[in-house]
Amino acid sequence: MQVDEAVVRNVVEQVLKRLGTNGAARPAGAPVGGGSYQGRFGMFTCVNEAVAAAREAFDRLSERTLEDRRRIIAHIRRIAIDQCVELGTMEMNETKIGRLPHKIEKLKTLGERSPGVEFLRSEVFSGDHGLAVIEHAPFGVIGTITPVTHSLPTITGNAVSMIAAGNTLVVNPHPGGKRVAAEGVRRYNEAIYRDLGIDNLIALITEPTLETAGGIFKHRDVAIICVTGGAAVARAAMQTGKRAIVAGPGNPPVVVDETADLDRAARAIIRGAAYDNNLLCIAEKQVFVVSRVFDQMMAAMERAGAVRLTGAEIDKLTRAAITTVGEGDHKHDVPAREFLGQDAAVLARGAGKTIPPEVELIFGETDESNPFVPVEQMMPFLPFVRCRDVDDAIDKAKRSEHGFRHTAMIHSHDVVNMTKMGKALDTTLFVKNGPSMAGLGLGGEGYLSFSIAGPTGEGVTTPLTFTRERRCSMIDNLRILGK
Ligand code: NAD
Repeated sequence: MQVDEAVVRNVVEQVLKRLGTNGAARPAGAPVGGGSYQGRFGMFTCVNEAVAAAREAFDRLSERTLEDRRRIIAHIRRIAIDQCVELGTMEMNETKIGRLPHKIEKLKTLGERSPGVEFLRSEVFSGDHGLAVIEHAPFGVIGTITPVTHSLPTITGNAVSMIAAGNTLVVNPHPGGKRVAAEGVRRYNEAIYRDLGIDNLIALITEPTLETAGGIFKHRDVAIICVTGGAAVARAAMQTGKRAIVAGPGNPPVVVDETADLDRAARAIIRGAAYDNNLLCIAEKQVFVVSRVFDQMMAAMERAGAVRLTGAEIDKLTRAAITTVGEGDHKHDVPAREFLGQDAAVLARGAGKTIPPEVELIFGETDESNPFVPVEQMMPFLPFVRCRDVDDAIDKAKRSEHGFRHTAMIHSHDVVNMTKMGKALDTTLFVKNGPSMAGLGLGGEGYLSFSIAGPTGEGVTTPLTFTRERRCSMIDNLRILGK
């Protein structure tokens, strides 16, 4: 009997593909029959392979129950919480910015509090013509870009919310945080695979570059994009031609008026601005105080443990810690790499001053034109600007925020002033009488995410952010009320 080789090859490929689909009997990591990447635990150097693996994972996830999604997320939460010391230390050692206790705490917090399956809901319209049910369906594979300021925490929060909604992710992490990103993602995928038999729900590019980011943006199997980062990536994401959820930069101002509880304000400002050495996008970056209480506010900051710099020290620090990039119209000030995210004691040294290592924040009086006011400095030095009155303070705060509409704070007991500032700044987060993180439910009400989508309007992201609406209608029946 004549055997057709092409037919045999086809049959073998089909069998291998089927084996690949149930995840058995093939070497770990090998793509089988052009289909399966089971056993790679999310580690990829090639964008096409990463997207194919995430797409395959999406197809498998789509066959599973909501309860399975809960179990998947429980693994991510458990690892983020139980291994926060080890992974947080890795993040600190790799990125070399921020503060170790906060690296650890951020991972634990994201594990505990990122919005999961419990945030999903459906809406119903019930009337004479029956029922319409609106459900929230996944998009598919989400191209995800994450920052160096919180590499694994952002991936953790994104993964919880995106998978809760039924999606999978292809992640291009910041090159400066790629190793901890890979280690965390490998652990998450492996635990999920061992328990539920689905791998690569989070596919990560282990050698990320701008080219791999571009490859993800353009890939036809990437349904939507979610980026968390500065102005350049925000712009790039909005030019992809795909729907983009953009968590862009901020430069959050604080206003303090004459009615504020100054000691409470000082404690709140230090807590927010010093956290992880000011790396949070929501962190207090410059303070505008009405002149009637300016000197008392400076004294309150010292009482609360911050160290004040003189004018000469601030000038020296500014020359060292702010630098210029770009040419012509594109020339602008940026934080100097050696000072970004460093301890207050390191900044003080740059200002020619020695302070105890446990000091969390340094501060001082500047005018509005000091570069520390307009630049998103991400350093634990806060410029304080003396303002004529609250209207002047709000005007200056608005200018310093550059229209990002990200985050703003006021310390006041005057609701008219609060309302005026809220209207003028028009920010996604507006916190009154607390530290910035209270706006994310840490010491305040509400829920948490490290991807706050200002430019595209989704706000503090939840699983519903990563869904598309579908409507299911029953005509003239199943409304069981009345006639
Ligand atoms: P960054 O903009 O340098 O990098 C962010 C990510 O974008 C990285 O993965 C980077 O590799 C990538 N990237 C940069 N330019 C790109 C381009 N042209 N095309 C494709 N990818 C590109 O920011 P960072 O220093 O890592 O993080 C700090 C910034 O992120 C701050 O501006 C901060 O305000 C912002 N941030 C915003 C939020 C938010 O929720 N809105 C949260 C965290 C950080």
